[in-house]
Amino acid sequence: MRSRYNARIMTQATTPHIQLTDSVAVLDGVGPAYVERLTNLNITTIHDLIYHFPRDYDDRSTIRSIATIEEGSSEKVTVSGEVTSSRMIRMRGRMNMALVEIQDDTGKIKANWFGRGFLANSFQVGKRVLLTGDVGAYKGLCLKNPEYEFLTGDADDQLNTGRIVPIYRLTDKISQRMLRKWIAAALEGIRETIEERLPEELLKHYKFPPTDTAIHQVHFPDFMDKAHTARERFVYEELFELQLRILKSRRDSVDKTKGLQHTVDGPHLGAFRDSIPFELTQGQLNAVDDLLSDMASARPMRRLIQGDVGCGKTLVACHAMAAAVDGGYQVACMVPTEVLAEQHYRTLSQYLKPLGINIGLLTGGSDDSKGVRKELAEGSMHVVVGTHALIQDSTSFEKLGLVIIDEQHRFGVEQRMTLFRKGEMPDVMQMTATPIPRTLAITVYGGLDLSLIDELPPGRQPIKTLYITPAKIPGMYDYLCKEAAKGYQAYIICPLVEESETRDVKNVTHHYEELAHGALGELSTELLHGRMKSEEKDVILRAFADGDIQVLFSTSVIEVGIDCPNATTMIIEDAGNFGLTQLHQLRGRVGRGEALSHCFLVGKPKTKEAKQRIEVLASTTDGFIIAEEDLKLRGPGEFYGVRQSGLSDLRIADLIRDVRLLEQARKDATEYLK
Ligand code: ADP
Ligand code: MG
Repeated sequence: MRSRYNARIMTQATTPHIQLTDSVAVLDGVGPAYVERLTNLNITTIHDLIYHFPRDYDDRSTIRSIATIEEGSSEKVTVSGEVTSSRMIRMRGRMNMALVEIQDDTGKIKANWFGRGFLANSFQVGKRVLLTGDVGAYKGLCLKNPEYEFLTGDADDQLNTGRIVPIYRLTDKISQRMLRKWIAAALEGIRETIEERLPEELLKHYKFPPTDTAIHQVHFPDFMDKAHTARERFVYEELFELQLRILKSRRDSVDKTKGLQHTVDGPHLGAFRDSIPFELTQGQLNAVDDLLSDMASARPMRRLIQGDVGCGKTLVACHAMAAAVDGGYQVACMVPTEVLAEQHYRTLSQYLKPLGINIGLLTGGSDDSKGVRKELAEGSMHVVVGTHALIQDSTSFEKLGLVIIDEQHRFGVEQRMTLFRKGEMPDVMQMTATPIPRTLAITVYGGLDLSLIDELPPGRQPIKTLYITPAKIPGMYDYLCKEAAKGYQAYIICPLVEESETRDVKNVTHHYEELAHGALGELSTELLHGRMKSEEKDVILRAFADGDIQVLFSTSVIEVGIDCPNATTMIIEDAGNFGLTQLHQLRGRVGRGEALSHCFLVGKPKTKEAKQRIEVLASTTDGFIIAEEDLKLRGPGEFYGVRQSGLSDLRIADLIRDVRLLEQARKDATEYLK
């Protein structure tokens, strides 16, 4: 005779106490191979496992009888039945599909999966299966690309049918069913309380469920709205912790430190202001105000100036330079390429030299790097513009008070720090033309103050962007030649440098040969790409800047910062092969003067995403809208700086969907730290 008491002891013995810190290997059925595979999902411990939140849910609480299903139902339906036939169907081109039919006691229905013909093999006749999807038609009623689940008839079917079912992000050879089973077992086996990570008052304020309840509801909700509340709680928690981390590190590094107090009403700044030949835009004026009040204050300046290509950041930076020099400090301005360094040097010289400011250029290829370094060390040189040469050991300053970093995402944290350490707590200003959506900016740059220049100088005509079909190509070259005859210049950009065996897209070497001896034979043309030596590139870019080259053939290497107001035509070949932000940067190489500029996008986009990118680009020139769209298309992981910021590790929060919570979490975290 076995008593109930005994039975309980037995279950307890077979379901050991599971601890959050245990490896997932303690779970039944999780052998070494699965332990290894789970690491792809960043899961090693039980804690990781239960914090692997569903990406979605299927409401399978009602399983429909097949006979009750009608075409055109607006909701997803779940049916369960036995497979009666299954085959792969080849279609036009290389497409195929799997077509499966199942039946229950009331009728039959088909299901198809486009492009996934291989699935047909898994649906053997006689297997029991659960399908959830939209109802469409294909030779009768047909579920379109439904989620599927094979039923085994054992106890875990209860986790997978007849309820709201979690859908997880998967990895190779790990199925929904496995994750559901393991997560359920883990939640069942945990005997300790899961630590509450949100402060009591915030829990109360938002009426969030405590972690223990929420974690059950987020995985296996009783009702959909409970799942939503639980999810919201964890999204908020994640964003709150992220913001707290950023704000804390900022507090430790900046807010507690005393920095330089610059003079902001000195003679150089005054004279510089008087010398500017045009009116600053409101965006520029605001940025200048932000900079100068930072510089005047004892709190160290850590400011990022964000503004679209051509909005006039260089001129804004000049104000800060003049102010620093007024107080007897030196300024170092670091840029990513020699060409940009020279370009800045020319612009800055034009404004600052007449005021008696001694300005120098320091790059790997400088003729007089020794002399420049000597003057910097002695303090007789006030402003230096340069590349990585600035951070070499041999470069030192007498009194470095302001560090400016252009195209800041091009430099690593370590490189920026090295320059910073060449002074004693210098103020730091960074510039970027990469428009990052606000939602990302407040987190990626959470430790920086942000000034946004959101307008272009007046008189610029918006760039016209046109998609060019093959039939229109000759007309496009005619147009280019006419522009050239008027004295304007053009860029032609291809995705590749040379022919590739794996990618069927235009390479610039071949394209150049073809056109330079063909349609553009009358013009002066030149080829520039990233595999050339930097001296060669410099010679070509200088010739282009001087107007000696009419058409420059290149790759995306020219995307950064080249300023040639005389260029009015940008042709991008196989445009679908470039990212959206990249296309926007490339397009930004034209439209920098007063003449009307065109951007032509050539080549049929091969994927749906490529088509969308081209449509977005053609529809707007606003860098911020483009960045938002890019974020939607690619996700945050692709943005500069996102990886370092911890944003790409988010488990549940989604920066597009959860903007409101992100902003709320930031406010709360700021408040909480006080
Ligand atoms: P960014 O670095 O932001 O891409 P630049 O500083 O190179 O832009 O400026 C682009 C061009 O616009 C330069 O030729 C500059 O002289 C000009 N510019 C800047 N500000 C103004 C303004 N307020 N009005 C007219 N032109 C301006
Ligand atoms: Mg610039």
